[in-house]
Amino acid sequence: MASNFETLRSDFPILDQQVNDERLVYLDNAATAQRPNQVVDALVHFYQHDNANVHRGVHTLAERATSQYEAARAKVQRFINAAKTDEIVFTKGTTDSLNLIASTYGEANIQAGDEIVISIMEHHSNLIPWQQLALRKHATLKYIELTTDGELDMADAANKITDRTKIVSVTHASNVLGTVNPIKALARLAHQHGAVMIADGAQAAPHMPVDVQALDVDFYAFSGHKMLGPTGIGVLYGRENLLATMPPYQFGGEMIGFVHRDDSTWAELPWKFEAGTQNIAGAIGLGAAVDYLTQLGMDQVQQHEQQLVNYLLPKLIAMPGVTVYGPQDPQHHTGVIAFNIDGLHPHDAATALDMEGVAVRAGHHCAQPLMAALGLVATARASFYIYNTQADADQLLTSLQATKEFFKHGTV
Ligand code: PMP
Repeated sequence: MASNFETLRSDFPILDQQVNDERLVYLDNAATAQRPNQVVDALVHFYQHDNANVHRGVHTLAERATSQYEAARAKVQRFINAAKTDEIVFTKGTTDSLNLIASTYGEANIQAGDEIVISIMEHHSNLIPWQQLALRKHATLKYIELTTDGELDMADAANKITDRTKIVSVTHASNVLGTVNPIKALARLAHQHGAVMIADGAQAAPHMPVDVQALDVDFYAFSGHKMLGPTGIGVLYGRENLLATMPPYQFGGEMIGFVHRDDSTWAELPWKFEAGTQNIAGAIGLGAAVDYLTQLGMDQVQQHEQQLVNYLLPKLIAMPGVTVYGPQDPQHHTGVIAFNIDGLHPHDAATALDMEGVAVRAGHHCAQPLMAALGLVATARASFYIYNTQADADQLLTSLQATKEFFKHGTV
C-alpha cells in the first residue's frame, strides 16, 4: 500500500484518466468513493479462490469463505470500537440499516402518541423510515432545527426531546452542510428521557475515528461504498441487549434456530438479522477497505481532509458570486461543501465543471426538507476524500472562475 497521502493515488487507477480532455478531479465522494486496488484484489481473490456460501458447509471452501466473512465482521467491530462482533450486522448499506431499525425496534416499541425526533438536516434515508413509522403508529415526528450557522440547534434539541420521545435519530455528519453533530450530547439527552439514540454514520465513519462506545449510541449505521468498500454492503451496529430483544427484519434461510410446522426460533446474534445468502464478497471487500483505512489511520484521514477544507473553504467563501452553505468556519466543516453560483442552476454549474474534468454533484442531495428550510431547491456539492489534493482544490477554484466567466460572457 502507498505509504502516505501524496502517493496513495497510485492505488486508485480510476483517478488517473482524462475527462473531456482534462485531468479528472473526482469530488463526488459523498455520493460514492473510489476503490483502491487492495479492495478490488480482495474481491477478485475471493471469487477466484475461495467462493462458497457461508455457515452452511463443512467443505474447505465453505470454511474459508465463512472465516473470511466473520473476520471482516471483526475488522468492522474494531474499526468502530464495538464491544462484541455480535453487535455488527451486515446490511446492504445505511438505508437498509436504518430501515431495519424502523421495521423491527420501531415496529415493536412505538405506540400512538409517542414521539420520534430527527433533525432537519437528515438524508431521506434517515427521515422517511421514521416518517412512515410515525404515520403507521400515529406517533409524532419532530425535527431539530438549525442555527443560522448551519449547525444543529442544541437548545431546540433539548426542547424537542421529551419524556414522550422514544427514538432520537440524527446524522453524525451532514451530506450537504458538512456539519458534524454532537452525537454524544444528543445521546445523553435521549437517554435522560429513556429514548434510544441512533446515528447515521454514512458521512462520518469514512472520514473520522468513530467509537460507538464513547459516543454512547444505541445504533450506528454506515455504508461500505463511501469508505472504499464495495456497493451493496453496509453495517448496522446495535447494542447487544437491544438487538437481542428485537424481532427479525426478514425471514428465510440463515436466520433460523429451528423451524417447526407452526412456529420457528431464531439464530443467535448477529445472524438473526442476516436472512438469506449475504453479500459475502462485499463484506470481505469491506474488510479490505477497513484494513486500508486502518493502516492510514483515521486520525490522519481526518487531518488530511481538514487541511484541504482549511485551504479551500475560505477561498470559496471569498469568491464573488459564490454562496457556500453550512458552517463557514473550516474547523466546523467536513470535506462536504455545498455551494451555488449566483444566477446559475447547480446542474448547469456541475455540467460546466465536468467540461473541466471536475466531478461534483448537483441536486437536492436526498435532503428535500433541508433544502426547503434553507429556501433552496438544489445546490452543487464538492466532497473530498483521502486521495484528493490541494491541486484538486485549486482546480475546483480555477474551474469555478472559468464557469462564472463563461456564463457572464458566453466564452471561457
Ligand atoms: N445518510 C447519509 C448522510 C448519506 O449521505 C447517505 C448516502 N448519500 C445515506 C444515508 C444513504 O446511504 P446508502 O445510499 O449507501 O444507503
